[in-house]
Amino acid sequence: MNRNTLVEEFVGVLRKAPKVALFSHVSPDGDCLGSMLAIGLALEKMGKEVSYYNPNPVPSNLVFLPGQSRISQRLPDPQPETLMFVDCTDLGRVSLSMSDISRESTVLNLDHHISNLYFGHMNWVDAQASAVGEVALALINLLGVEIDSDIATNLYTAIVTDSGCFQYSNTTARTHRLAAELLDKGINLPDIHYHIFDQKPLSRIKLLQCALNGLEIYAEGQLAVMTLSLDDFQKSGAEQEVSEGLVNHARTIVGVEVAVLLKEVGPQEIKGSLRSNLWLDVNLIAAQFGGGGHNRAAGCTLRVPLAEAKQSIITAIEEALRVGRNN
Ligand code: 5GP
Ligand code: MN
Repeated sequence: MNRNTLVEEFVGVLRKAPKVALFSHVSPDGDCLGSMLAIGLALEKMGKEVSYYNPNPVPSNLVFLPGQSRISQRLPDPQPETLMFVDCTDLGRVSLSMSDISRESTVLNLDHHISNLYFGHMNWVDAQASAVGEVALALINLLGVEIDSDIATNLYTAIVTDSGCFQYSNTTARTHRLAAELLDKGINLPDIHYHIFDQKPLSRIKLLQCALNGLEIYAEGQLAVMTLSLDDFQKSGAEQEVSEGLVNHARTIVGVEVAVLLKEVGPQEIKGSLRSNLWLDVNLIAAQFGGGGHNRAAGCTLRVPLAEAKQSIITAIEEALRVGRNN
């Protein structure tokens, strides 16, 4: 199916649906929540009944998002016919599997990850988009819904967070054009930036302290690794969500190509965050451990003790660095 037909049919399914259930991924971020809320608010403006699901609570720095109180940690029951997954590479990202989806359902998959598994009946995946917020904006425009300041606030948050404040390599002229379109809708830019970037809890700074204490450099300076144990989280008084983005501190070291943060989220459950600067495809590294993401930002979960997870990841990255381009 060519792209235009796919997009037309995708929009057609939403137009026809009286009820839509929206889903976004575990450890929610500004992109998945902002995009889900923007789409949901737009569908509500069309008179549809919308439910919003996320397996986890909304992180404290995102509770300013308009409509966030609609988000539920309970799955919609009964399940409507039209289900839409936002920013999810696969159903596992929502802690679901195909058996949780009713046979009569139409599954729409809206995403921007290169590792997307095309698990939906219709898959609108734009790996060029800096954020799924870019795709969500295109979708809302095609639905013909007027973008108000609430929708624009959600979309701007999606884009500014996933593009790393327009700094990451996935930022394009289109990203800036879309952001400009949103600024025209009367959003409160300083307020959004204040909530997202200037309101870090003290527990995060303490967690950063732990992470920096344990910083290690490998591969002649090209690989920086940080780890956070359950004990570190407890000592800092920090929830898991608070550690989002800490990996970037390791990424900014001169000479570092790859930065890794390994977090112990449970005994024998280690969440890895991988970032690269110029060339190494960390999506391929994450895929070796059952994860995925983007070329320059990816993640995975390893079900082994922290020390073992660290050794496995280091070995895989050292090998990729040694052989040169892995993409
Ligand atoms: P983070 O390191 O911030 O958790 O995630 C970086 C990127 O990789 C995000 O785009 C996120 O959606 C993706 N990602 C993180 N963890 C996983 C995972 O376990 N599986 C897949 N498929 N993608 C992941
Ligand atoms: Mn995203």
